[in-house]
Amino acid sequence: MHKKVGVLKFGGTSVGSGERICQVAAIIENARQEYRTSDGFFPVIVVSAMAGVTDQLLRIARHACSGEREAYTNELASLRLKHLDAAKIVARNADKHALLVEELEECLTFLTKDVYALHEFATQGLEVSLPTAAVASWGERLSIRLVAAAACELGVNAEPVRQEIIITTHPKTDPSQPFGIVVGAEPLTEETRANATRLLTPLIEQEIVPIAAGFMGRTITGFVTTLGRNGSDYSATVIGAAIDCVEVSIYTDVDGVLTADPRLVANARLLPQLTYEEAARLSWFGAKVLHPRTLIPIAHRNIPVRVRNTFRPHIRGTVVGPVLQGQSGACAITFRRKLALITVESTDMFGAPENAGQVFVLAAGAGAAPVAICSSSGHHLSFVVEEQAADSIIALLHHDMENWKVSCRRGLAACACIGSGFTSDPMSPARAVTALAREHIPVISQGASEQGITLIIADANSESALRCLHRDLIAPVIPLVRHAHSAHERRKEHVR
Ligand code: ASP
Ligand code: MG
Repeated sequence: MHKKVGVLKFGGTSVGSGERICQVAAIIENARQEYRTSDGFFPVIVVSAMAGVTDQLLRIARHACSGEREAYTNELASLRLKHLDAAKIVARNADKHALLVEELEECLTFLTKDVYALHEFATQGLEVSLPTAAVASWGERLSIRLVAAAACELGVNAEPVRQEIIITTHPKTDPSQPFGIVVGAEPLTEETRANATRLLTPLIEQEIVPIAAGFMGRTITGFVTTLGRNGSDYSATVIGAAIDCVEVSIYTDVDGVLTADPRLVANARLLPQLTYEEAARLSWFGAKVLHPRTLIPIAHRNIPVRVRNTFRPHIRGTVVGPVLQGQSGACAITFRRKLALITVESTDMFGAPENAGQVFVLAAGAGAAPVAICSSSGHHLSFVVEEQAADSIIALLHHDMENWKVSCRRGLAACACIGSGFTSDPMSPARAVTALAREHIPVISQGASEQGITLIIADANSESALRCLHRDLIAPVIPLVRHAHSAHERRKEHVR
C-alpha cells in the first residue's frame, strides 16, 4: 500500500448517542479533508460499542445462560430501541435511513440467534465463553453501521467492515475468570496482517474510509471472539500495526494525559508528549491512561499513539511515542493505594544471604506480583504488594522460609514521580523527598529507577502527598487571590 494511513479510534462515550456519533462523523470528515488538502494520512476508523451496550449484552448473555427468557427479551428490546433512536439522528435522508434500519434489524436478528445458541450451549452444559463473546461483540457490529451512515451523511465515502479483522489464537478455558471473558485469545501478527490487508487495502485504495469494529476478532479456528473488556484501544493498535499506519489516535472523553489526576490536583495540566515507558509506568501506578497492553503492538515499531478528546477536537492531546530528547525532571505524579510493605529478614546475620528468587516465587505462587521492590541488603528484602494479597503471601513465606522473620505494614500507598529525565536532574529526587518532609509526611520506604522515584507513604497521606509533589516538582500553585492594592496597582492609579 502506498498511502500513508492513520487509525482513528473512538470509544464508547464518543459514540454514546446519535448526536455524539454525528460529532465523530465530523472528525472523520475533517481527517478526510486534511488528507486531501495537506500531507495528512488516510483515516481508518475503529469504533467501540455505544456506551453501556457491552455491559447490556453481557447481561443478556447471563440471562440466556440461566434461561431467564423474559429478562433477555426485554433487554434485547431496549438495545434495539437505543440503536434505532440513534439511527434517526445519524441518517436523516429517508432512503438512507431505511437502508440503515434494515441493516441494524438484520444485525439484531443475528444477535437474537446468537443469544438462543448460547442458551442451548448452557443448557447442554457446554463451555460458554466463545458463544458469550459472540453475543458481546454485537455492540461493535451495530455501532460501525451507525458511524458509517453518519460519515456518509457528511459526504464521506465510508463503509462498515463487516468481517472480523483481527485473527487470534484459540482461547483457553479458565473457569476462574469472570463471566464473559475470553482468556488467551491473543492476536496473531502475521495472520492478522494478511487478513487486514485483504479486508482494508481494497477500500483504502478506492479512497473508501473503512469503519472497523474494535474489541472483536476471529479465532484461527473460526469463532468470533473478543480481546477482553475494554479491549478496543488494544484492537486499534493491533489493526494499526497490521496496516503499517503512521499514527493511532485514541479519541476519548478527556483531553489527553495529565500531570496528575485533575480531581485531586486543581492545576494538573495536559502533557503534550510522553514516552512509551512513561505511559506504561503511569498506568502501572494507577493512572487511567492507556492500558499498557495497548502499546505492545506498536511501541517496538515506534508508531506513536495520540490520546485526544472527541468533544474538544481542537486540542491536540498527548502523543505517546519513542524516547524524547532533552527532558528533565518529573513529568507526572500518580499513586497507587491500598498497599502493604512486606519485609523479610534473616534471623541469622551471618547465615546465607537472602534468597530473593525464592521470595518472589512464593509471592507469585500467591498470585501477586510485587507492586514495587523497595530495598534489599543481603539479609533483608522489602517490597510492596496489594494489601489484599498480603495475607496469603505472608502465610506462604512463613511456611516455606524458616529462619526468616517476616513482617508486614498495611495501609500504605506508593506515590510515583515519573519522568525519563528524572535522574539526569540531580535535584529531582531531593525535591521530592523535601516536598513530603515539608508537609510532615514520613517516607516509609522508597524505590528509584532512571524513570523516576516511588515513595511509600501512609495511605492516609496519599492525597496531600500527591498535591505537594505536584506543586514542588511540576507546577507551582499560583494564588488566585489578587491583592487589590498592590504597589504596582497604586502606581497605575497614580498615573491615571
Ligand atoms: N465495548 C467493549 C467494552 O466495553 C470494548 C471497549 O469499549 O473497549 O469492554
Ligand atoms: Mg465500552
